[in-house]
Amino acid sequence: MPEMKKLELELDVRGMTCPSCAHHVENALNKVEGVEKAKIPGWQSNKATVSLTTDVDQQELINAVELAGYKASLKEQKPQISADIPQGSGNGDQRKDFDLVVIGAGSAGFAAAIKGIDLGFRVGMVGDGDLGGTCVNVGCVPSKTLIRAAEAWHNAGHHPFKGVNTLKSSLDWDIIRSEKDTLVADMRQSKYSDVLAAYPEITYIEGFASFNKDGSLQVGDKIYRAHRYLIVTGGHPHMIQFPGVEEVEPLNSTTLMELEQLPESLIILGGRAIALELGQTMERLGVQVLILQRSTRLVPDHEPEIGRGIKDYFEQEGIGIINGVQVDRLSREGETRIVHARVMGQEKEFKADQIFMALGRNANTDGMGLENVNVELDANGAIVVDEYQQTSNPAIYATGDVTNNPEFVYVAASGGSTASKNALTGNQKALDLSTMPGVIFTDPQIATVGLTEAQARQQGYEVKVSTINLEHVARAQANRDTRGLIKLVADEGTNRLLGAHIIAAEAGEVIQTATLAIKFGLKVSDLSDTLFPYLTQVEGLKLAALAFEKDIAMLSCCAV
Ligand SMILES: Cc1cc2nc3c(=O)[nH]c(=O)nc-3n(C[C@H](O)[C@H](O)[C@H](O)COP(=O)(O)OP(=O)(O)OC[C@H]3O[C@@H](n4cnc5c(N)ncnc54)[C@H](O)[C@@H]3O)c2cc1C
Repeated sequence: MPEMKKLELELDVRGMTCPSCAHHVENALNKVEGVEKAKIPGWQSNKATVSLTTDVDQQELINAVELAGYKASLKEQKPQISADIPQGSGNGDQRKDFDLVVIGAGSAGFAAAIKGIDLGFRVGMVGDGDLGGTCVNVGCVPSKTLIRAAEAWHNAGHHPFKGVNTLKSSLDWDIIRSEKDTLVADMRQSKYSDVLAAYPEITYIEGFASFNKDGSLQVGDKIYRAHRYLIVTGGHPHMIQFPGVEEVEPLNSTTLMELEQLPESLIILGGRAIALELGQTMERLGVQVLILQRSTRLVPDHEPEIGRGIKDYFEQEGIGIINGVQVDRLSREGETRIVHARVMGQEKEFKADQIFMALGRNANTDGMGLENVNVELDANGAIVVDEYQQTSNPAIYATGDVTNNPEFVYVAASGGSTASKNALTGNQKALDLSTMPGVIFTDPQIATVGLTEAQARQQGYEVKVSTINLEHVARAQANRDTRGLIKLVADEGTNRLLGAHIIAAEAGEVIQTATLAIKFGLKVSDLSDTLFPYLTQVEGLKLAALAFEKDIAMLSCCAV
């Protein structure tokens, strides 16, 4: 009998982080019909060699690896970079070091670099500052762990039913701050440093990147050229240069969370997410907090009911809030900082130990030589992009906080992955933010998705609205915390859900159900016809859906 000719091929395998991953992938490949033996030389090798007894559809091998929870591609596949870039775009003829250089090693940068590698391209990533960027170092992670610590401290001090202060001992800010720093360091290591190490194909270049006049990229004394660039350099706190600002040295979100000592009193300029989250945290840690806001209501982009609700709850906790404040200048007398402002036309002075400017963030575009490569910026210095995240220079893409995209880390990461693919393989997928949930981690939380009532009307829908108070939700009653409301916005004609706006404890956990409902075009009746578990906060969505038709106060248990 003639000996059968053996076929061998090699796969690139992504996502293996330990020896048992290698074992899982080997097992998955060995189960594919026609595979004689699959072997992984070591999980760090990121490859598998597969001997076949017969011709096997290569996609079957890739699918088997993916079903096991990893990614694979064929080694010999050489992907072609999309060729639709016009000349004169900073993408001249010289030798290219990379297919894609990602500028910025934050959440968008990592998602983009990994996508580029998964697609089989040569990727460089330039990082300036701490690996991981804003979210892990000075944003989501430190703020959310401080919020949690302050909440635990606040709740420990109150009898769950009577609001009596029973259990408080003395607060140790040093411990809270150092535990926050430990968490940040651990997560930076596991989610960024270790992940970068698991992708040896990503060439990491440390330093500040800027574009030269010939379109090349300068990092320190080195010059790099790539077919495509992706700018994901994030943002920094916007510090308005009021007269007297140098003397007062206001805090920003980063320096506030790093303070060695908490102030006795704090004035916050601003009334959106970061002002509210960190303001309530500080108040719960014993700081006397006064929020001064120019707009007439907190969180002005949200439903008015939500702005009014959070103001009431904050005031009940002892946080001062003044709206309609026009700041003229700042000054300092010894350790006291002063805000000089006009409120309803009257001159006022507000005094505190520290002032925290929470007035939004500006894009990191200064000094990057973007004028050399014709990348258009808006009046605030943010990079202008289209839905594919392409800039005015077709060879250069941008996404995340350096653009005007909403400042959420999951938006940045999704933008990074989308932009990377579009840059390398042609504009195929727009970044879809039509059903983007947003959460503000106050207590109670604020969570929204889809259109507000006003937006739906502006867009020409025949709008219907249902609003219920949390008193109708059994979970809230059992928790003895009925603060909040749920507002649903729907289209009268089709009965489709268009928006959900919630202020309630754990609203962030509830909003995802509404997100899926809106994303997949569900009707209000789909929500009210679905079983929701009793004594969950998310049952409130079903009650709000039923409230379009019924008086829910007259329902027995279980929202039917
Ligand atoms: C206090 C606070 C709390 C937040 N909480 C949340 C939350 O709970 N949930 C949520 O979803 N989002 C939250 N965010 C927002 C979230 O952190 C950001 O949207 C997200 O991190 C932006 O990611 P990015 O990749 O666009 O930019 P970044 O993460 O900022 O990364 C940009 C990186 O590029 C580097 N860089 C800058 N210029 C250059 C250059 N020229 N060359 C090389 N590198 C450069 C920067 O140093 C940085 O490392 C919060 C933000 C803050 C400030």
